Amino acid sequence: MDLDYDRQHVWHPYTSTINPLPCYPVTHADGVTLYLEDGRALIDGMSSWWSAIHGYNHPVLNQAAKDQLDKMSHVMFGGLTHQPAVELCRKLIAMTPEPLQQVFLADSGSVSVEVALKMALQYWHAKGESRAKFLTLRHGYHGDTFAAMSVTDPDNSMHSLYKGFLPEHLFADSPELGFHDTWDERDIADFAAKLETNHQDIAAVILEPVVQGAGGMRIYHPTYLRRVRELCDVYGVLLIVDEIATGFGRTGKLFACEHAGISPDIMCVGKALTGGYMTLAATLTTKHLADTVCSGAAGCFMHGPTFMGNPLACAVANASLSLLETGEWQHQVSRIEAQLAELLPAVAQSDKVKAVRWLGAIGVVELYEPVDMVRIQQSFVDNGVWIRPFGKLIYIMPPFIISNQQLNKLIFAILQSLH
Ligand SMILES: *Cc1c(COP(=O)(O)O)cnc(C)c1O
Repeated sequence: MDLDYDRQHVWHPYTSTINPLPCYPVTHADGVTLYLEDGRALIDGMSSWWSAIHGYNHPVLNQAAKDQLDKMSHVMFGGLTHQPAVELCRKLIAMTPEPLQQVFLADSGSVSVEVALKMALQYWHAKGESRAKFLTLRHGYHGDTFAAMSVTDPDNSMHSLYKGFLPEHLFADSPELGFHDTWDERDIADFAAKLETNHQDIAAVILEPVVQGAGGMRIYHPTYLRRVRELCDVYGVLLIVDEIATGFGRTGKLFACEHAGISPDIMCVGKALTGGYMTLAATLTTKHLADTVCSGAAGCFMHGPTFMGNPLACAVANASLSLLETGEWQHQVSRIEAQLAELLPAVAQSDKVKAVRWLGAIGVVELYEPVDMVRIQQSFVDNGVWIRPFGKLIYIMPPFIISNQQLNKLIFAILQSLH
């Protein structure tokens, strides 16, 4: 592979063109293993950013893609419909909380968040109320497009760079209590106060349920989420739950809002929706919300991307959801969680480690100091694993099919990297 060309011309996520960090050339992947061009095999701890839950090169997903390719890989979704999309929406409605009955298919997680925010704005517009603010949490992450970025942690997403262009929303303190801590109402106080003061201007609350992902890998108390739902009901504010990272079994429940037993007004899913095969996301909402949106001035929901409902992506998503429907993921995720609970406390012994935490198939090691990316990435590759830290966080969310031995290797590599 021409790595010089890559370095000179190809922009990678969040990288500099002046000082690009090294990229490792990968040629193929199978199960939980990524293969580098030089033949080295790496155990994948990232699931390609939460998405490859069933592992790579999966025969069922491959077959679904091949079968659909021979029928049609794409067709416009305006005025036309197709079996893969209808089946996918039926599956999504069946597996998500009961009030969610209407599905909008989107191209990526960020777009599904844009769609959710637009739905909320159109909802209030149709009801004759002008509400243009969103309330969200510090340390949140909702994507890189403008509206998604406007509800992402202001420091992490450098809001100052876009001042004057980015809408300014409301940020409540993020939860401090962990998943297993004893609940204390003070944890929700700042959120409750901000909602009480501003509710007449707030179209919706948007947050990641139970696990805040890219904004800090924080795992919080389910009662926080339950209180958010109650407060939204008290003040008549919509609740958008971003399940893009947490959805499809990752936290030990099919959807993280099940930990709190709540149902949102709008839910975003993405990432693992196609088992990591291609980009697809969805925004689900209630019949009431959808119909209210469409009773407004526009007479419809004002969104419709070119590749909406891409049949190839829908067909693979259907295959991935069928694998989840067998229920095997529950055993896989519990096994991973039990092993994380057994091994991560040993990692916490290192004097570089501030805290460790885990939930379902997510393991997090928080350091006192930011990692040296080049050095640590090299250390991981030398130890035969693929883990991609950011800042002070080393975290893993492996494919659900990872074996005990492979997971041991991931955690051993984290220990090694701390030396
Ligand atoms: C990844 C992520 C997004 C953005 O999804 P993309 O597909 O990268 O646009 C939004 N919200 C959460 C919680 C995410 O983890």
